[in-house]
Amino acid sequence: MLESAIPGVQALRPYAPGKPLSELEREYGIRDAVKLASNENPLGPSEKVLAALRGGFDELARYPDGNGFELKAKLARRHGVAPECITLGNGSNDVLELVARAFLSPQTSAVFSAHAFAVYPIVTQAIGARSRVAAAHNGSRGPLFGHDLDAMLAQIDDDTRVVFIANPNNPTGTWLPGRSLRAFVEAVPANVVVVIDEAYFEYVDEADYPDSSRWLNDFPNLLVTRTFSKAYGLASLRVGYGISQPELADVLNRVRQPFNVNSFAQLAACAALDDREHLARAVEVNRAGMAQLVAGFNELTLPFIPSVGNFVAVDTGRDAADVYEALLREGVIVRPVDNYGMPGYLRISVGLEHENRRCLDALGKVLA
Ligand SMILES: *Cc1c(COP(=O)(O)O)cnc(C)c1O
Repeated sequence: MLESAIPGVQALRPYAPGKPLSELEREYGIRDAVKLASNENPLGPSEKVLAALRGGFDELARYPDGNGFELKAKLARRHGVAPECITLGNGSNDVLELVARAFLSPQTSAVFSAHAFAVYPIVTQAIGARSRVAAAHNGSRGPLFGHDLDAMLAQIDDDTRVVFIANPNNPTGTWLPGRSLRAFVEAVPANVVVVIDEAYFEYVDEADYPDSSRWLNDFPNLLVTRTFSKAYGLASLRVGYGISQPELADVLNRVRQPFNVNSFAQLAACAALDDREHLARAVEVNRAGMAQLVAGFNELTLPFIPSVGNFVAVDTGRDAADVYEALLREGVIVRPVDNYGMPGYLRISVGLEHENRRCLDALGKVLA
């Protein structure tokens, strides 16, 4: 049937997720493995979320609120915008796909950086649109592997309808400061949607790191995406959102599946927003864990890309696929990133102290 699929889909390489713990157990017979492969929150969700979820069972037979009234109201208050500015998604990946479905076609193109989040090329190609990939920084004028905004601007042509920017980017952990990012958005033609993907926003603690949702009044073509999958610890429930001016949100909502965010996800997201202490704990655990991993890499004299997220890409100095396999046998799941054009690197998510220790010990053993 492959020949009958549209050309973009024929050539599509599906998203490669982190290996689930259950799969490692099944295939390798390994128990008590640690997974540092999908940038999940090692603390899990807030207790308040677990309590809120229990309430969801009473409504199990009902369709969810297709307009997400409560969650949108909470998010609107949090961001100081009207509820009409919010587009809820089944994960923020869903919102990225809505953008592609609403704005791309085989006659148009999307621009993004080399080494950018894998979902941008996938949603673009699934539509049959062209991907225009800007070379990343080589380390001379910006962080090695980081988005080069001048190169991205140069890739925009008359056919471009969408630009995807990850700030910070996954898997590199590199980020863009407010001044240059805002200047970029100003320079993009008004008929091009600029998506600023802030999936790791809550973790970033840099003075120049922008909250680009504050710029929405100035740019009808700006969409900022956030997620509950990372710092809020709700990856399994699939809930994220976009913030934009109402006209752009209206376009996205035309192609959105009516019940794309289930009731448990809506309940959980509302409760998670209310538990600021849990969020602060998650951020603190990440700060300490990142310091632990970085110290360990330095001890092993392994180069890495400085990251502001909850993950870090480390240069194994050899074909990382072999290191990945060897780590699996040690019961440590990390993420190879050869599909991101980084065949020597592994992306390691920040875990709890004993998980980071386990990973560093295994790395030391495997690389020795
Ligand atoms: C993890 C991630 C997402 C979020 O995915 P969800 O669909 O919300 O789980 C979005 N963008 C980037 C860059 C990510 O790394």
